[in-house]
Amino acid sequence: EETELTDLAEKTKDPEPFLKNPELKQFSQLPLSQKTANGLSKANFVEMTDIQRSSLPLSLCGRDVLGAAKTGSGKTLAFLLPVLEVLYRANWTQMDGVGALIISPTRELALQIFDVLKKIGRNHTFSAGLLIGGKDLKSEQERVSKMNILVCTPGRLLQHMDQTPDFNCDNLQILVLDEADRVLDLGFEKTINAIVENLPRARQTLLFSATQTKSVKDLARLSLKDPEYVAVHEQS
Ligand code: ADP
Ligand code: MG
Repeated sequence: EETELTDLAEKTKDPEPFLKNPELKQFSQLPLSQKTANGLSKANFVEMTDIQRSSLPLSLCGRDVLGAAKTGSGKTLAFLLPVLEVLYRANWTQMDGVGALIISPTRELALQIFDVLKKIGRNHTFSAGLLIGGKDLKSEQERVSKMNILVCTPGRLLQHMDQTPDFNCDNLQILVLDEADRVLDLGFEKTINAIVENLPRARQTLLFSATQTKSVKDLARLSLKDPEYVAVHEQS
């Protein structure tokens, strides 16, 4: 495990060798931990989709990514793999609190993300929780500070930031804004801005969207740092 971490640290310094490799096709060619690689193959994920192939070399090397690709193109794994890998490489434990936030526009989408996370993250020991409202706030409040990875809807996350005394994201390593165009269409712009204000500035941010509207670009300007822009229009 020690040598694996050294090896991953070395391979994730520079995305160029991966991006320039015309033969980059399979997850097994990426700098991934054995735990994540096993989770992927157990779930029968072998070949990458286009958005995964073009964004993962960057996101796994710590870059902020603004990713655009249509629905069904595989954006979920494009952000869940960096989430797992960032925490794994940081030796994250339950004691370290919230290390990753994934914000999704709706409960249904958050649930889908959570299911994929459980599947591919099965070999990791991180705790993961769903903050999507519709349930008793009190019972969530008792568990939320013990979670390492949170999949949330915007309103419920901000509610915890405002109302849960021992909840903080001071150690956050990575923020994911999924379906950013829909988040904005649903009127969550102010909520997202308020959430981002509560987060440490030194973090990685990934923003995925099906479309690149002006408001998505405005949100990106506020929440990402020198982002790499990755757009995939046709699925091969
Ligand atoms: P998006 O978020 O872009 O709409 P999803 O991440 O929900 O897309 O993925 C759409 C479908 O494609 C899902 O059923 C998912 O399991 C499948 N999928 C994603 N990546 C791969 C892959 N690399 N190989 C095979 N199937 C994949
Ligand atoms: Mg999606």
